[in-house]
Amino acid sequence: MAYPDLHMLKGQSALVTGASSGIGRAVALALAEAGAHVAVNYHGSQEGAEQTVAMVQAIGGKAVAIKADVASESDVKAMFDTAEQAFGPLDIVISNAGRQKDAAIGDMTLDDWNAVISTNLTGAFLVGREAILRFRRKGMRPNVSRALGKLIFNSSVHERIPWAFRVNYAASKGGLKLLMESLAQEVSQERIRVNAVAPGAIATEINKAEREKDGGEQAMLELIPYKRIGDPEDVGRTTAWLASDASDYVVGQTLFIDGGMTLYPEFRGNG
Ligand code: NAD
Repeated sequence: MAYPDLHMLKGQSALVTGASSGIGRAVALALAEAGAHVAVNYHGSQEGAEQTVAMVQAIGGKAVAIKADVASESDVKAMFDTAEQAFGPLDIVISNAGRQKDAAIGDMTLDDWNAVISTNLTGAFLVGREAILRFRRKGMRPNVSRALGKLIFNSSVHERIPWAFRVNYAASKGGLKLLMESLAQEVSQERIRVNAVAPGAIATEINKAEREKDGGEQAMLELIPYKRIGDPEDVGRTTAWLASDASDYVVGQTLFIDGGMTLYPEFRGNG
């Protein structure tokens, strides 16, 4: 039996952080395609955010761009206020913003460490906490969704796979795993669904230099059994599903979207 309506997000409002580019933009588009109104957060690129808004509008959706640094407590509160002023109480929050600042351990400065932890982990805490407070204030809307709210973090395969020369990034995503699971354990009985997506290698700005250096793409493909680099849309579609009632019984899970990277392909016929 088909339940097409379960995938729909009509009448729902969503906020996506770091949506001026890459995966965040694809998530915003996928949510809009399913019928949600989308607040598009950006930090650096207003132009990128406006482009995302225009892309949503081009498919008949509604979106608004909101500037905020997810690592700032006051920015995060103001971002939620602006989003709610635009589209009413939020049903879906996607904590996607993230960054890398790679360095060998001997060269990694405290600034390199703090920059990544404050965006990827503290930012996720601030956005997650605010999302839960707002979901509670909103109350259930049974005609719209079976859940009080859906909170989805964008983690990484590096919440599981250690990553030399990027200990700040791997530590932030490892922390995010237990932040997500502990939050899910704390608030599930309120019908708040907390989950995460964990992408593998997806073609975006974050890894452009790595992909485009000599032999870079080939080296990445060796780590991917499915033998293709992922597109932001691969993550967008899955995230929209996780935000919909089609996944209503999925609680506290990390969904790996990685072409099999976490299968450790080096062990195929070896070891
Ligand atoms: P990206 O660089 O295109 O997007 C990152 C976004 O986060 C940018 O729009 C950036 O402006 C925003 N951002 C950074 N710091 C911010 C801050 N303090 N406040 C608000 N926004 C901020 O790269 P992407 O690949 O789309 O990254 C999105 C997420 O996906 C990140 O959390 C990243 O760790 C995760 N991820 C990406 C991959 C990949 O292969 N691309 C793999 C695993 C996980």
